[in-house]
Amino acid sequence: MNIVFLGPPGSGKGTYASRIAPQLGIPHISTGDLLREAVAKKTPLGKKAESYMKKGALVPDDIIMQIVKERLGKKDARPGFIFDGFPRTIEQADSLERIRRVEIVINLKIPDFVIIQKILARRTCEKCGEIYNIAHIKFGKVNMPPVSPKKLGICDKCGGKLVSRSDETEQIIKDRLDVYRKQTQPLIDYYTKKKLLRNVDVIGSPEVMVPIIMAEIKKSKK
Ligand code: AMP
Repeated sequence: MNIVFLGPPGSGKGTYASRIAPQLGIPHISTGDLLREAVAKKTPLGKKAESYMKKGALVPDDIIMQIVKERLGKKDARPGFIFDGFPRTIEQADSLERIRRVEIVINLKIPDFVIIQKILARRTCEKCGEIYNIAHIKFGKVNMPPVSPKKLGICDKCGGKLVSRSDETEQIIKDRLDVYRKQTQPLIDYYTKKKLLRNVDVIGSPEVMVPIIMAEIKKSKK
């Protein structure tokens, strides 16, 4: 199945995609992760992308399409994919349409003030990219307990060190939310018109959210 997860930075796209993709036997593809890998390896593409990422700006579409095409060319992506953080512009969505047909778009909805609290409390494994969160967010219907590692500062999966990403300061998060509203929000209309959009309110922990999202995906499979 060809799936796109849409939602502002910090809405949980990466966490949910990484848990749902194995259940569907398809890869979870995060353009942010692919870019961070290219930056860490200092590849020519990584060098071009780095300055945009530091500012919280979008990396130009041609660079993104280059990494996406390369990733979709791998064998594991033949039966489908979950994209997380891609497409982020109408141009990217149009380019994707030319290579693969998207079947469902999960749109994760969450208020800005929750996002800011969540991102500031997020810790990512330097080595394997596993995501944790040290905040407990509670208001109204929303209850998001922390996703803590067993040992403080250490990844449960691989023993790597847990860090805050360099683009996770309050100002950069606000800038990224601004970029999201201007450049990515139009995709909500784009996919609504194509009748592919499914709205999902983020109200709980991954244990609560993953079955809700899975149910949406299964509904549209029928
Ligand atoms: P993410 O991990 O998805 O939050 O992405 C981190 C950063 O990588 C973003 O702030 C952008 O600078 C860049 N990025 C990731 N995916 C894309 C994309 N599809 N288009 C443009 N820039 C992207």
